[in-house]
Amino acid sequence: MKYSKLFGKTIKQDPKDEVSVNAKLLVRAGFIRKEVAGVYNYLPLGFRVLDKINKIVREQMNAAGGQEMLMSALQNRANWEKTGRWESFDALFKVKSRYDFEFTLGPTHEEVLVPIVKQLINSYKDLPLYLYQIQTKFRDEPRAKSGILRGREFIMKDLYSFHADDKDMESYYEVMKKSYKNVFERCGLKAIETEATGGAFSKFSHEYQVLCRSGEDEIIYCEGGDFSSNVEIAQVKEGKQCDLGHGPLKRARAIEVGNIFPLKTRFSDAFGLTFKDKDGKEKPVVMGCYGIGITRVMGTIVEVYHDEKGIIWPESVAPYMVHVVGLDLEERSVMEEAEKMYKLLQAEGIETLFDDRQKMSAGEKFADCDLIGIPYRVVISKKTGEKLEVKKRHEKETKFVTFDKLLKILNF
Ligand code: ATP
Ligand code: MG
Repeated sequence: MKYSKLFGKTIKQDPKDEVSVNAKLLVRAGFIRKEVAGVYNYLPLGFRVLDKINKIVREQMNAAGGQEMLMSALQNRANWEKTGRWESFDALFKVKSRYDFEFTLGPTHEEVLVPIVKQLINSYKDLPLYLYQIQTKFRDEPRAKSGILRGREFIMKDLYSFHADDKDMESYYEVMKKSYKNVFERCGLKAIETEATGGAFSKFSHEYQVLCRSGEDEIIYCEGGDFSSNVEIAQVKEGKQCDLGHGPLKRARAIEVGNIFPLKTRFSDAFGLTFKDKDGKEKPVVMGCYGIGITRVMGTIVEVYHDEKGIIWPESVAPYMVHVVGLDLEERSVMEEAEKMYKLLQAEGIETLFDDRQKMSAGEKFADCDLIGIPYRVVISKKTGEKLEVKKRHEKETKFVTFDKLLKILNF
């Protein structure tokens, strides 16, 4: 992509209406634009990051047997009445149609999916079943000052599992724990599996918490990795020695990037979702549900990986792998060389952003590189001649290398 053509340019000043680090940097670097508080538009750079995260999530959900689908955002009031959540779900956006209908904009999808599953399954042979989607959710959040960490509109991956008994659900719950670990690791995040309340859903749940000072949650955890609990339910205090000899428990702020719940028969009971077992006996289906905040993951990555100059994307989710910076592009031979390099990188399948703007200082161009945060900067100028000047976003050192050496550095 040529930067001169890219929709969404960098801005030097922090936006006045943002307080969070993620929103300030993402707006300044040209990834997002605010609609209203808690609602954001994703520009091409931001969309590429979401797409990378989605791909990782899809691969892991498919590997765990998940079947992807897409459910409605406008949801039937009657089904929310059935579960009692039309009144009790406090963040529900309620929408009145001109034609006497009432809807909610979906904050989650049990009320949509369970009635569909009820129509389509009836025997133990249809179970287990794992269904998921990546979709826009709506919640009328009271506080929406954390940029894309807490949206009134946000993207979530939600998977729902359907089982013949508790034991099968519990074993799939462990499979999902592994899948979640893989998803967050691949996104470059160290997410701590944390005991938490199940809210109105279930007795308990597990949250995936990323340590971060700007997080809204607080956890008490062991650095050795064998214990973590949300302070809301923690039975122990910080400073207590870990039972396995890993030293004192710590207390820290964290961001909840995912949450998994054993729902048991909470929703099956509400809708009469049953199946016939081997003996022809009618039994309730046992469920679990598993959420990941896709847009919140993107915001968390920015909160964790940035410095005073801008964002530092992990390679797995970066919008591009290489940022080619052309300097002295007013000189035809340099422009030709830079164009050639851009095309060669593309031919190798390396995602490249090419800063092809003319009459702009090196300082200004480098500042934009640091703000946007693409993992590798490759400079071509009068000075570089046959070679390329390579620098990693988070390192100071620059190297002069040949094109072949560059491919080696990039692992291509
Ligand atoms: P929170 O406690 O932060 O309000 P929640 O526990 O109500 O979130 P869940 O119902 O567990 O959220 O949703 C699953 C995941 O969706 C969360 O772990 C989080 O990553 C993401 N998520 C929830 N609410 C929001 C929001 N308002 N904006 C962005 N992501 C969200
Ligand atoms: Mg949660």
